[in-house]
Amino acid sequence: MTVSSYFQPASVPEALALLTEHGPELLVIAGGTVAMPLINEGISLPARVMGLRRLGIDRVELVGDRLMIGATATLTALAAQPHLPLLAEAARHTASWQVRNVGTVGGNLFTPPPGGGVATALLALDTQVEAIGPSGVRVLPLGGFWTGFMTTALAPDELAVRLAVPVTADRQAFLKFGRKAANTPAVVTVAARVAMEGDVVADARVALGAVGPHPLRSAGAEAALLGRPLTHAAIAEAVAAAMEDAEPFSDPVASAWYRRRMVGVMVERALAQLAQPEERGA
Ligand SMILES: Cc1cc2nc3c(=O)[nH]c(=O)nc-3n(C[C@H](O)[C@H](O)[C@H](O)COP(=O)(O)OP(=O)(O)OC[C@H]3O[C@@H](n4cnc5c(N)ncnc54)[C@H](O)[C@@H]3O)c2cc1C
Repeated sequence: MTVSSYFQPASVPEALALLTEHGPELLVIAGGTVAMPLINEGISLPARVMGLRRLGIDRVELVGDRLMIGATATLTALAAQPHLPLLAEAARHTASWQVRNVGTVGGNLFTPPPGGGVATALLALDTQVEAIGPSGVRVLPLGGFWTGFMTTALAPDELAVRLAVPVTADRQAFLKFGRKAANTPAVVTVAARVAMEGDVVADARVALGAVGPHPLRSAGAEAALLGRPLTHAAIAEAVAAAMEDAEPFSDPVASAWYRRRMVGVMVERALAQLAQPEERGA
């Protein structure tokens, strides 16, 4: 089967009407950097395709204390925003200039592992996804967005239109480890964030990418850090917990065994970045 219809709606209501009319047979494409190679190789064979480029949902703007990111904002636009360095860093570590110029932030949420580096950073930042469907807007915390490998809580007749990300001055670190320094699939991705009260961790997020069916938080690592200074001992406990919580897989990039070990290395490095040297004595 080849693509027989390509729709380019000019508004969100028009796009929703097309989704309702054609149902799951209509493949949604934003930048197309994930979807198009699958079509070209005959892995995905949609009869109908809908592009989101003309919907006007590509703005990145600060609204109050939240960064509002339109789903079709490009990774290049995300890399350029100054408000959340964690997200800019994650975008810069994604693919190449060419891919970042067309690939979108929304599309990154749907990218199968080992992709999803930006999604991992968004998870560490407590992002909420605004989804719109025939019955209106739903707000989905990113923590509950993924339901399995390449499955999400989004209904077939819904679109992700915007992401709301709290802007925080917490200490943040993003690390991606791959076989090459740049433009490389991840062996593991780590996005970590801590809020300090004095020298004690008051809140912590440790998000892992490329080591599970979708980006995931290490509850064990976060619990190991809470209420303690960022000492060697606390970090070592968090590292062990993150290695336990990871759900690594083997692929041509790396074995599950290697991925789990690199979770330990990269979480240690990320948390070391967050710790002030003088706080790590114990
Ligand atoms: C050479 C190359 C290198 C890459 N390297 C990396 C990398 O290092 N890290 C990484 O994370 N990714 C990487 N990618 C994957 C990809 O480029 C990015 O994840 C990008 O963010 C995907 O966005 P897109 O708009 O192109 O997705 P698309 O291909 O347009 O969309 C993918 C799927 O997501 C769904 N979708 C997209 N937007 C919406 C929406 N708003 N609402 C509902 N459903 C939607 C659709 O089902 C669609 O079919 C790479 C890709 C290539 C080709």
